[in-house]
Order: sequence, then C-alpha cells, then structure tokens
Amino acid sequence: MKEASRSFSAKAELLVTIRKQICHASPPYVVWTSVVGERPFECPVDTCRRRFTQSSSLTTHMRTHSGARPYVCGRCGRAFADSSTLKKHVRVHTGARPYHCDVCPAAFSQSGNLRRHRRIHVPVNSSQP
Ligand SMILES: [Zn+2]
Ligand SMILES: [Zn+2]
Ligand SMILES: [Zn+2]
Repeated sequence: MKEASRSFSAKAELLVTIRKQICHASPPYVVWTSVVGERPFECPVDTCRRRFTQSSSLTTHMRTHSGARPYVCGRCGRAFADSSTLKKHVRVHTGARPYHCDVCPAAFSQSGNLRRHRRIHVPVNSSQP
C-alpha cells in the first residue's frame, strides 16, 4: 500500500518534469497550457491565433497566411490552398451539379447558385389575394 502510493507520486512528479521540459523545448508558436494535448498547435500570426489538434492542420492553415497554393487545377492551372477548394473548383470543368432544386429540374455546381435560384419559386405577392 505504502509502496504503491509512493510510486504514484513519483510518476506524477515525473510527468510535471516532462511537461516543463516540453514547454522549454517547444518552438515559440506551440503554447502548452493546462489543456496540454487538446489543441497544442497555435497559429503564430498575431491577428489569427487559431488552434489545431494536429500539426498537419496548422501547416495547411499556414498556407492561408503565406499564400502558398500547392493544389493546382490540371485543366486551367488555377491554384488553391487546400484540396477541398480545388475539388469544388473542378466541378466548373466537369459540369458536375450536385445541388438540385427541389421544385424544378434545375441543378447547380455551387450551393450559392442554388440558393439564388430558389428565390424565383417564392411568390412575391403571396400575402395578396
Ligand atoms: Zn492563422
Ligand atoms: Zn480549373
Ligand atoms: Zn427551381
């Protein structure tokens, strides 16, 4: 019993020591707070300071500040910062229209276009007889 409690406190002490060392060794943009391990990767840009759970997410996010656009469209050469934006863009070439109007057969490549189109089905004078 005595033995077990001693080893527990020794472990706790060791953990504190490790955390202190990590804190000391980390690059300045990695801020270790009381929630160590939750979102330890912070954007170093003063006006942003967004936090991420993975370093890869931070790396992708940093492209929005640096202007790096590694995802290039093979058809028109336009470049994008992340793969999801490129995927959305490629639809303008493939003609894919995943957004269908639920009233008429019209379909659109962008959700915003469908929203705009949807307004034509709303009667303007619906409250009037
Ligand atoms: Zn940022
Ligand atoms: Zn393109
Ligand atoms: Zn419609």
